[in-house]
Amino acid sequence: SSVFAALAQAPEDPILGVTVAYNKDPSPVKVNLGVGAYRTEEGKPLVLKVVRRAEQMLINNPSRVKEYLPITGLAEFNKLSAKLIFGADSPAIQENRVATVQCLSGTGSLRVGAHYLHPQPTWGNHPKVFTLSGLTVRSYRYYDPATRGLDFKGLLEDLSSAPSGSIVLLHACAHNPTGVDPTIDQWEQIRQLMRSKSLLPFFDSAYQGFASGSLDKDARSVRMFVADGGELLMAQSYAKNMGLYGERVGALSIVCGSADVAVRVESQLKLVIRPMYSNPPLHGASIVATILRDSEMFNEWTLELKAMADRIISMRQQLFDALKSRGTPGDWSHIIKQIGMFTFTGLNSEQVAFMRQEYHIYMTSDGRISMAGLSTRTVPHLSDAIHAAVT
Ligand code: PMP
Repeated sequence: SSVFAALAQAPEDPILGVTVAYNKDPSPVKVNLGVGAYRTEEGKPLVLKVVRRAEQMLINNPSRVKEYLPITGLAEFNKLSAKLIFGADSPAIQENRVATVQCLSGTGSLRVGAHYLHPQPTWGNHPKVFTLSGLTVRSYRYYDPATRGLDFKGLLEDLSSAPSGSIVLLHACAHNPTGVDPTIDQWEQIRQLMRSKSLLPFFDSAYQGFASGSLDKDARSVRMFVADGGELLMAQSYAKNMGLYGERVGALSIVCGSADVAVRVESQLKLVIRPMYSNPPLHGASIVATILRDSEMFNEWTLELKAMADRIISMRQQLFDALKSRGTPGDWSHIIKQIGMFTFTGLNSEQVAFMRQEYHIYMTSDGRISMAGLSTRTVPHLSDAIHAAVT
């Protein structure tokens, strides 16, 4: 007998489970639009050339050793990461008000940030965080199924009624799964409301540069909140924009009101990280630092990044055109209006099941498709399937 005998079988992860089902399907025409990872026109994973080059440089350097990193990770990586998201001329960086720690990609950065926000007996310095009463998760209205766009009124109403001191999780760009972002004017209204109500922003940036093709454009929302001098948390991932998915490289930055608060915040972050995983892995952060510190490699990266973003944007147009040419009923303009890796098609779970059954097309049951998983070759098959599903 086993002490674990009474355990129930856990359900498959709703997103990763799509790939499990896809892998089992023997059909030659099957398409996987469930994965949140970039694919080439040929449907292959992509390692950026600049990443290969950085790795080669690291391998060829005989003085490189495999020592532990500090609890906070690679110091140069942290500096460069803060500069990348907040901008080189950011006042918060110039005034040393940013505490950055290397974490395990975006998820790990969010996790460390969330842990840190839990009131700790040792914590007594940062008034805003100190008064938080614990992390009870509530959602605010965001997506409007009727317009397949932003429910801006609902969002403002919900933020208005949030208790002062609440932490608000915001997607920096390319909202997942909806592909719907606020406009700059709407961000400005969100910012004013949040600052007036002392709501603490926690930005999640998983797609900087991957959404529009421009690193600066995709960081605009975040930089508006830094420019006003207020505080915020920032979780950054290099999974998509450098294609470093499995390397698990990311950063948590906390922009603080003053330089000495930032020093104390970093000391507290170390208390959170040490019992969680001691210190982060070396390799991915070294690749990122190698690329970000060198202007020529940095430029090469931005070109490769833009090529990935442009391919995704072109897939949106091709899918939209294909549905239009088929006369598929409905307004599909949201396909070209939405931003980032995913399109929230508006297809319901029965239509999704029909497309899997009849066309071997795999996506999450909420109708989210990864545009990065699509190619010129597979667009006609997908449009045929959508057409059949809605008619
Ligand atoms: N936040 C959002 C909105 C995401 O879409 C993702 C990746 N799918 C992440 C965070 C974290 O990804 P990772 O941990 O691989 O960086």
